[in-house]
Amino acid sequence: MTTDSNASGGPDYRCGYVAIVGRPNVGKSTLLNKLVGQKISITSRKSQTTRHRINGILTDEKSQFIFVDTPGFQTRHTNRLNSEMNRMVTQSMRDVDVVIFVVEAMHFDDRDKLVVNLLPADRPVILAVNKVDHLADKSRLLPFLEKMAREFAFAAIVPISAEQGTQIPDLIRAVRPYLPQNPPLFTEDEVTDRDERFIAAELVREKLFRLLGEEIPYSTSVVIDQFSVEGELRKIHASIIVDKANQKAIVIGKGGEKLKLIATTARKDMEENFGGKVYLNVWVKVKSGWADDARVLRNLGYE
Ligand code: GDP
Ligand code: MG
Repeated sequence: MTTDSNASGGPDYRCGYVAIVGRPNVGKSTLLNKLVGQKISITSRKSQTTRHRINGILTDEKSQFIFVDTPGFQTRHTNRLNSEMNRMVTQSMRDVDVVIFVVEAMHFDDRDKLVVNLLPADRPVILAVNKVDHLADKSRLLPFLEKMAREFAFAAIVPISAEQGTQIPDLIRAVRPYLPQNPPLFTEDEVTDRDERFIAAELVREKLFRLLGEEIPYSTSVVIDQFSVEGELRKIHASIIVDKANQKAIVIGKGGEKLKLIATTARKDMEENFGGKVYLNVWVKVKSGWADDARVLRNLGYE
């Protein structure tokens, strides 16, 4: 892969893969976005919105961090899609040079413990204690950090606020020494290695979570049926796939208002992301049991 002048390498240059793991909702996507300074991985107040492995890249004069944002661990459902996700999380930790394990300050429950049990023993794991901005009484933090230090042999422990961006440079400094000495793999302007088709689907899916509140189940998927570029215009046809007819009605909304809002906000985000006009058409389709369907899994890139 080509490199540019600012990140051309040199003998001390470091470059490697970093997995960001943790149970749903601890702030992994928020952290990744903050680290790479651009919105790629989707975030939501609801958990489990990240279903894919997403790479974000941070490049400076001395190092390149290639981040992998993994889906959270699934502990509630046992269908095939969720077991695929768990497999991907375990797999993603195997492929990287450093693991960042994210927990919420003052929260360590069975689901966090589940992730700890899967942390690799043969590579550095850095603990990021997120959401410290939530803490009214900062003196409670130290005992929590001490407790966490007993859970696993972390290479470092760094309290952060992903949302507010505090201590992110400390986290970067803690990770850097563990990256191997390598020239950069990506040019500086490559923020994600995911293609626009994938980003388009993620942006529609994010709007579903944001705009439909509690009504919409996690078993919803978005498939891009058509993606074409005509000059400056991108023409995108997307399908929202739901399990049941009543879910379809919820997504469409009264007089089609909800679907219109989903499509409009998704289109605006796409135009910002792609830097050009987008024509977006969104359909809602009912397909029960899709999460167990091998063909859909293939479309999502699992098989
Ligand atoms: P993920 O499931 O681990 O990827 O978590 P997300 O990044 O989607 O974040 C889940 C929720 O936590 C969202 O509502 C975020 O805005 C919120 N959040 C993330 N980081 C912080 C933080 O540092 N402080 C606070 N107060 N909230 C945060
Ligand atoms: Mg996420």
